[in-house]
Amino acid sequence: MAFYLYNTLSREKDEFTPVKTGKVGLYTCGPTVYNYAHIGNLRTYIFEDALKKSLEYIGYKVKHVMNVTDVGHLQSDSDEGEDKMALGASREKKTVWEIAKFYEDAFFEDCKKLNIKRPNVVCRATEHIEDMIKFIQKLEEKGYTYEANGNVYFEIDKFKDYTKLANLSIDELEAGSRIEIDPNKKNPLDFVLWFTNSKFSNQIMQWDSPWGRGFPGWHLECSAMSIKYLGENIDIHCGGIDHIPVHHTNEIAQSEAALGHKWVNYWVHGEFLVLDGGKMSKSSGDFLTVSRLVEEGFSPLDYRYFCLQSRYRKQLVFSFESLDDARKGYRALKKKIATIISNVDNNLPIDNSKLEIYIEKFKDQISDDLNIANAFTVLNEVIKDANLNNNEKTSLIEEFDKVLSLDLMIIDKEPVNVDEELINRLLEERNEARKSKNYGRADEIRNELLNMNIEILDTKEGTTWRLK
Ligand code: AMP
Ligand code: ZN
Repeated sequence: MAFYLYNTLSREKDEFTPVKTGKVGLYTCGPTVYNYAHIGNLRTYIFEDALKKSLEYIGYKVKHVMNVTDVGHLQSDSDEGEDKMALGASREKKTVWEIAKFYEDAFFEDCKKLNIKRPNVVCRATEHIEDMIKFIQKLEEKGYTYEANGNVYFEIDKFKDYTKLANLSIDELEAGSRIEIDPNKKNPLDFVLWFTNSKFSNQIMQWDSPWGRGFPGWHLECSAMSIKYLGENIDIHCGGIDHIPVHHTNEIAQSEAALGHKWVNYWVHGEFLVLDGGKMSKSSGDFLTVSRLVEEGFSPLDYRYFCLQSRYRKQLVFSFESLDDARKGYRALKKKIATIISNVDNNLPIDNSKLEIYIEKFKDQISDDLNIANAFTVLNEVIKDANLNNNEKTSLIEEFDKVLSLDLMIIDKEPVNVDEELINRLLEERNEARKSKNYGRADEIRNELLNMNIEILDTKEGTTWRLK
């Protein structure tokens, strides 16, 4: 079956042809673990997860590799600003290593809640310093580097196709990036491969290298690790669109310079999630996380559903109102499916030819540059189709959920008698109990409510409840 992907490199929807028949090497840029992932980051990881599962669903064996950036990423994606890991450490009065461990774990916890499958290989930058040093040496041998003030730079003028991914001129690339005048650079777009102490005198994460003690530039890790785990010819490389002009452009330059040939065949980028009122920024500390959505009474899968409703290549505007609409749609869908599953009759036969028709339709949509929104239409047709019995419908829903990963086969518990007056009375009594340190009674009330399928949430704004 033909699978089409919009390739940033060609700016066309290209038919996907793997390097090795039946197999896909997929590399996705991972998190910088100095803070929680925000829901914008997670939109990108959800899209990448759906892409991987779609490829698997149509029959490919996918090897998915993702890096964890725990060193070298400065505040700007170019070489300016403070080290993000050091900022996290000083903010929380912890070591950079503690910060990295904590936020890596938090990231994978979030992924789990969103049904994002863990990549086959997760590789930390700090565990691949040797590979990066060797990579720089290769570039050095081929004449693509220069040393200035102790740092090693990649000289972009030596690489003739530097602008091909962003499809912009050098002037436009310069205008688009926040470039601090660095007198060490021959061209403002040159980028650092190895920083030495000339950059940060108190850098904690540092290693010996042929150029002095220091640490690698951020872009280098993705080139070195993706080639290590996926080989010299990679099928698909993903990330958010912000990575096109700097990070991925630099990755291509150094990889193709080192390898001497084309490196990645399909560059696939997810558009941004933006807030109703503007941009989400981690550096300002004001950003939305999965935990915050849960505090507001949403489930992580409400958010996954919200993201899957729109095309990955379109900007998605987030507001709690639109998330609420998505939640209603998701709950209604699950209710319909619950009715089907509850009425399965094992005596009814399954006609595989009918299933095949729908599976083909579903595959057609996901193969059309990941048209998940249309794949939902196929799912709804299945639910409504009077010519399918409940066993056939259940089989199809289970199939589709291999890609959608929305726990469609799990029946949500229905609340028994939601009596708001009673709930509020119990919550008040619990508050009083807590105030008078009668925690036994407070716990009793929590359990009483849980038996009614009501979950209590203690938030900064006070205590609320929601249906479990
Ligand atoms: P970072 O941890 O900043 O390196 O980003 C992790 C991933 O999230 C990268 O693929 C970014 O391109 C992507 N990303 C960053 N901000 C957003 C956003 N607002 N919406 C969607 N993806 C984003
Ligand atoms: Zn990367």
